[in-house]
Amino acid sequence: MNFPLPHELRALTPNIHAWLPDGHATWGLANCVLVTGRRGTDGPATALLVDTPYTAGMTRHLQDLVAGLPGAPVVRTVVNTHGNGDHSYGNGLFPGAEIIATEANGEHLCAEPEPAVLAGLVAAADPATVLGAYMKRHFARYGDFGVTSPTHPTRTFSGELDLDVGGSAVRLIEVGPAHTAGDLIVHLPEEGVVCAGDVVFHEDHPVHWAGPLESVHRACERILACGPRIVVPGHGLVMTPQEVRVYADYLLDLREAIHRGHAAGRPLPVLAAELIAADPHPRWGLTERMAILAAVEYRALDGAQDRADLVALVGFAAGFAARESAEESTPESGEPAGSVTAGG
Ligand SMILES: [Zn+2]
Repeated sequence: MNFPLPHELRALTPNIHAWLPDGHATWGLANCVLVTGRRGTDGPATALLVDTPYTAGMTRHLQDLVAGLPGAPVVRTVVNTHGNGDHSYGNGLFPGAEIIATEANGEHLCAEPEPAVLAGLVAAADPATVLGAYMKRHFARYGDFGVTSPTHPTRTFSGELDLDVGGSAVRLIEVGPAHTAGDLIVHLPEEGVVCAGDVVFHEDHPVHWAGPLESVHRACERILACGPRIVVPGHGLVMTPQEVRVYADYLLDLREAIHRGHAAGRPLPVLAAELIAADPHPRWGLTERMAILAAVEYRALDGAQDRADLVALVGFAAGFAARESAEESTPESGEPAGSVTAGG
């Protein structure tokens, strides 16, 4: 692993610890949250882990940190907020734990590449192509992930599910389709904490595979309706509810701009370029993801019924990233480099 990982878990409350990799402008460095039982026991404390890391190595690193906490908590339950690999490839390193996700998450898992397939794609990617260079840049650091096939949930639900983790109340709330077909958020009502999964990103432009943006916005409203003090996004630092509100408003503005473009008959690549040029949050990373948001929204507006090709969507975004970096390196030339390689 050629990137820094957190060397400690951050205590959000005495029984909630967050693993927050510094993942600004990266793909794959997702947050995990450990909820430990509040009830005292003679033996090790019972714990629930929200999401597992992308690679086996990262997961073992997290497990070492958990084992070092007072009471050496044992993870008996894993919750996957959704089915993207950066939140679930580590599932298999918790043998015997119950793994919970929504029933609808199964729909997304059909489209999610298995670790061995993704590792093969990255290894075989041609860095001379726009998509290949982007894949190498963002995913080669994870090597072969240390796992070949995913470990799927052992228990699913729809709607809401209340759990008792050694005396700590945990409520799972289905909010998908939003980021994917089967998202859930984790509400810890006694502590005022919500784990938002990838419904919310902090200071990176979001990517949403299922959408449409109206649904993602509704999921943000559900988070805020929990009245949290702290929101842990899927990636980036913990947030205040006010920051989630700014993010939710941004999604609505973006939705309006995309719908306007669609109604005016603007071709998708043209609209995506315009959105990126008018980026209202230039400090946020991965601006090119706005192209994916536009492509997914266009699919919804066009009534697309087939399953979205996630790799093609990344390829579409990669064209804009190549253009941006070329403009940064040659500010005088106004010639965009790279080309759009795939449509949504
Ligand atoms: Zn993620």
